[in-house]
Amino acid sequence: MSAQSAGGRLFRWTHSAAWLSAFSLLSVVGLCAVSAFMLWQLRNHAAWQSEITSRSLIQVLGRDIARNIELYDLSLRAVVDGMKRPQVMEASPELRHMILFDRAATAAGFAYALVLDRNGNVIANSQTLGPMSINAADREYFRHFADGVDDGLHISAPIVSRVSGQWVLTLSRRLSNPDGSFAGVVTGGIQLDYFRNLFAMTGADRAGTVTLYGPGGTIAMREPFVQSQIGTRVAESVSYLEMLKRRSGSFVGPAMIGEGDRQFVFTDIGDYPLQLSTAVPLTKIYANWQGEALGLGSVVLSLCAVTMLLTWLFGRELTQRRRAEEVTAALNLELERLATTDALTGLCNRRRFDEVLAREWRRAVRTQQPLSLVLLDADYFKGFNDRYGHQRGDEALRLIARSIEATTDPTRDITCRIGGEEFAVILPDTDAEGAKLVAERMREAIAGWKVPHVANPHGILSVSAGLAQIPQTPAADPAALIAAADRALYGAKSQGRNRVQIAGQSEAGLRIVAQSRIG
Ligand code: GH3
Ligand code: MG
Ligand code: MG
Repeated sequence: MSAQSAGGRLFRWTHSAAWLSAFSLLSVVGLCAVSAFMLWQLRNHAAWQSEITSRSLIQVLGRDIARNIELYDLSLRAVVDGMKRPQVMEASPELRHMILFDRAATAAGFAYALVLDRNGNVIANSQTLGPMSINAADREYFRHFADGVDDGLHISAPIVSRVSGQWVLTLSRRLSNPDGSFAGVVTGGIQLDYFRNLFAMTGADRAGTVTLYGPGGTIAMREPFVQSQIGTRVAESVSYLEMLKRRSGSFVGPAMIGEGDRQFVFTDIGDYPLQLSTAVPLTKIYANWQGEALGLGSVVLSLCAVTMLLTWLFGRELTQRRRAEEVTAALNLELERLATTDALTGLCNRRRFDEVLAREWRRAVRTQQPLSLVLLDADYFKGFNDRYGHQRGDEALRLIARSIEATTDPTRDITCRIGGEEFAVILPDTDAEGAKLVAERMREAIAGWKVPHVANPHGILSVSAGLAQIPQTPAADPAALIAAADRALYGAKSQGRNRVQIAGQSEAGLRIVAQSRIG
C-alpha cells in the first residue's frame, strides 16, 4: 500500500466517524424535538378537553340560574304590580296574600317574598298571614332604593335571612308612590341551597370547584361546599379581576381560595351582577398527561441513549481501525524505507537507485533536459581492508558516503551505494560539465580527509569517478547510461585513479591506452 492511498483511507475513516457522530446527533435531536412537540400537543389537548367540559357545564348551569332568577323577578314584579292597587292593602289578609304571593309560592328555591314599607317594616310576608315585627331598614338593598331611584331589579350579596335564618341571595324591587317618591321595597330571597343542589346534581366538583359570585365579588355558592367560604369576598383576587374583563371566557390564574394555578372557565349570568366559574387545578388537568409524558419520555430517552451508545461504540471501533491503519501505514513506510536504504551508510540502495534512475530517465527524455550519472569506486579498497581491517573499511565507506552526500543537492540529487565500495549519484537537469564539477568536489572532499591508505600509491583514501550524461552520451536506456558511466570509471581507474573521467573521453582514453599497448 502506498503512503498516499493509506493517507486517503485514513481521511475517509476520520470523516466517516465525524459524519456518523453528526448523523446520530441530528437523529437524537430530531427525535427529542418531535417527541417534545407531541408531548406539547398532548398537553394542550388535555387543557382543551378540560376547558370544553367546563364550558358546557357552566353554560348549562348559567342558563338554569338565569331562567330561575327571571322567574323570581316575575314574582317580585307581580308583588310590585299588586301593591300599586289601592284595594290590595284594604283586602282581607288571605285575599291580599293570594294576590301578592301567588306566583312566589310556586317558584322553586324561593325562600320568601316580603313587602317593606318606607321605614323598612315588613307589611306583607309570603310565609305567613300574621303580622311580623321585622325591620330591614339597615339592609343594603333597602338603603339602595331608599337613597336612590328605581333602577329595576337589584341583587345583593348573600346574607343570612332574618325571616328564615338561612343564607339567601336577595332580589329586590322598589315600590314607588304615584308621585315617584319612595314607598318601600319588595324583596325576595333565593335559598343558597338551591344553588348547592344544582351544583351537586351536575357532579361538577369532580373536576374542581364551581363557584357562583354575587355582587361585589362575594362567594354566593361554591361546590365542594364549605360553609365558611359563603359570603367571602374575593373581589381583589387577580383571577376575579381577570374574570371581570369579559362576559365569558377562560384563562389560567392563581386560585382565589387555596394554593396553585387553576384553569378558570367563567361566564356572566344574563345581565345580572352574577358570575359563574369553574376552577380546575392544573395538576388535575395534567395528571394523565404527566403519566403519558413520563412513559413516552422514558422510551425516547432510552432510544436516544441506545443511539448514542451505539454511535460511541461504532465511533470507537472506527477510531481503533484508524489507529491500526496508522500503525500499519507507518510500518509499511518503515519497511519501504528499509527496503530501499543501505544499512551501512544510510544512503539509497541499489534497488532504489534502479527505480530512481528509470524514473529520471523517462523524465529527462520527456522534458528533453540533461541527466547525468556519476559512478564512484574506492581505490584499492581491498588493500585498505587488508591493511586496516574490515571495521575501519566500513568507517571509511561511511566517510565516503557522507562526503559524497555533502557535495550534492539533497532536494534534487540522489546518492546511492550500489555495491561494496561503489557509489552512484544521479544528477537530474545537470549536463556533463556540471556533473564533472560535482564529481570533482566529491573526489576532492574524500581525498581532503587524507585518511592514510598505504596500499594506494596516492597514500590516502581516494575514489575514482566516471560520469555519463544524456543526451550527450548516446544511450538507449538506463542500463546503457550505467554502462557508459562504468566505462568512464574504468578509464579513471586505468589512468591512475583518484580522478574523474567523463564518458566518451574515457573511451578515447581507452583507445589511446589500447593503441599504446598494441604499439
Ligand atoms: P580498485 O581500485 O581497482 O577498485 O581496487 P579495489 O581493491 O578497490 O577493488 P576490488 O573490487 O578488488 O575490491 C573491492 C573490495 O572492497 C573488496 C572488499 O574487501 C571491499 N569491500 C566491499 N564491500 C565492503 C564492505 O561493505 N565493507 C568493507 N569494509 N569492505 C568492503
Ligand atoms: Mg569496485
Ligand atoms: Mg575499488
